[in-house]
Amino acid sequence: MKCIICKSPDIVVKEVDEGIKLDNDIALYPVKVNVCNNCGERYYDRNTMQQLEDVKGKLKNKELTLQVVGKVVRVAV
Ligand SMILES: [Zn+2]
Repeated sequence: MKCIICKSPDIVVKEVDEGIKLDNDIALYPVKVNVCNNCGERYYDRNTMQQLEDVKGKLKNKELTLQVVGKVVRVAV
């Protein structure tokens, strides 16, 4: 597999915090994905996409709870 962005063959599996958008909030969820070591592009397989959708659904149904780890704020310009 080669990166479609930079053509690098240096693709590795990494655990990343994926942001799941919930209205104005973003829930971080750790997933293992293929990441290009050169440019940082992430590649999601079908299972991972499905997993993220499942988590999003469970969060909406309050089957999973959220833990506040900090605030995401916007710089006023
Ligand atoms: Zn790349």
